[in-house]
Amino acid sequence: MIMGTFDVVGAREATRVFATLDPARLAHGYLFTGPTGVGKKTFARRLARALLCETPKPGVLGYCETCPSCRIFVARTHPDYVESVGTIKIGKESGSALHDEELSARDLVRELGLRGYRSARRIVVLGDVAFATHEAANALLKFFEEPPAGAVIILTTSSPGTLLETIRSRFVELAFPPLANPDVALVLEREGVDPERARLAATASLGSITRARAVLDDGDDSARNGAFDWFARAVRGEPPDPGFLQLDDRNLSGAEKRANVGELVEFSRVALRDWATLGLAGGDAVPLLAPDQRDRLGKLPARSTPALLALMAAVGEIGRLARSNVSPGLVVDHLRMTLAPVE
Ligand SMILES: [Zn+2]
Repeated sequence: MIMGTFDVVGAREATRVFATLDPARLAHGYLFTGPTGVGKKTFARRLARALLCETPKPGVLGYCETCPSCRIFVARTHPDYVESVGTIKIGKESGSALHDEELSARDLVRELGLRGYRSARRIVVLGDVAFATHEAANALLKFFEEPPAGAVIILTTSSPGTLLETIRSRFVELAFPPLANPDVALVLEREGVDPERARLAATASLGSITRARAVLDDGDDSARNGAFDWFARAVRGEPPDPGFLQLDDRNLSGAEKRANVGELVEFSRVALRDWATLGLAGGDAVPLLAPDQRDRLGKLPARSTPALLALMAAVGEIGRLARSNVSPGLVVDHLRMTLAPVE
């Protein structure tokens, strides 16, 4: 009997749900939602390994290091585990070439319909999914109507609002919130980053490991700087430069553009909070969410407290819009007009 470690930083709600779940009550579909870089895919991968581990255990979570299943899982050769990273497009129009990360509807049906080779289970983990055809969406619906015994599909997405409601409703949905800064720092330290650098990168991360790593890797803070600059210009009524959002980049998928815009909205909320804090208190003693932006935000024209509170509520609502299937470009325009000074 084992209760091997099952340690995913953050992910408290998901850990709680699965830690108390009777394995017999496992659902066929789970939808992990939340911003990029907060541990959705890591959790999905470890959950899959736990479900496939052959050493008996009392619940769902936990895996050993030694059983054959765990060993081939670590070697990435487990025949009953399918994972697609990044955005995949299911059901690409016939006639066009499939890229590495694109599954045809037929591939998906096959993967979902196969029985486990060496275990009673088969786990399919997919990233952001765009259904290009009705057939593809129907294939997934059919899976839920007649799920093969032991099959579990896990979708991880930062924009659940883009899923068809008929599909979304079949999944058990679990939210992964942004990580606390100390959690981000902890993950980085475990990866060998020295504590002081980890702490600084965590401060710039907005709760995302992905962004923290980008900051560490090449000092690439361009998205963050771009977002704060964009915000400051929008607030002044100047035309902001949306280049950093890469909305015109044809190599970027819709989901990636949506994620970029989602980050802009999140940075705008941080900037708004700090702008309001500086306006109310001014002094150096006030802790800011983005202390390195103090100069930029401190120079913004003052607005009344009620006006700032109304803005915060409005930007919160735009955040909801950014996670829906409204076009990313429209969300950016809406945000810009909302922040602009009233004539
Ligand atoms: Zn094992």
